[in-house]
Amino acid sequence: MDDLDQLYQSIILDHYKHPRNRRELAPDEIMADEENPLCGDQLSLSVEINAGRVEQIVFDGKGCAISLASASLMSETIAGRTVEEAASEVQQFIQIMRGEQAIPDDWPDELRALGGVRKFALRVKCATLAWHGLAKILARV
Ligand code: ZN
Repeated sequence: MDDLDQLYQSIILDHYKHPRNRRELAPDEIMADEENPLCGDQLSLSVEINAGRVEQIVFDGKGCAISLASASLMSETIAGRTVEEAASEVQQFIQIMRGEQAIPDDWPDELRALGGVRKFALRVKCATLAWHGLAKILARV
């Protein structure tokens, strides 16, 4: 394992062990429920949107390190974007993870860390679960 792999692994472990923006959600707060039965991942999302901007993304759920770290990383990466920016970054992330698009040079290390799972087809579902939920919410705005 080289230094870069180690950096990426430590980013994922950090977000798994100390997820950002994760808390219990009341039923009426939940805007999307996502499930990945292949792995047992379950995520619920709530998004606060004000004046066309994604103010905050909050999630709850259970699952593997990749699915939870990805939700945590998404909540940090996308918050503050306009709805349009957020929607296009979400689509880009999903396409990159599916191997339909190359990783752009300016992609942040936090997302590159998840990029490593592209080699593992089953893990792609884990890594994109939260992003699919956010895509559904943004499509309804
Ligand atoms: Zn998983």
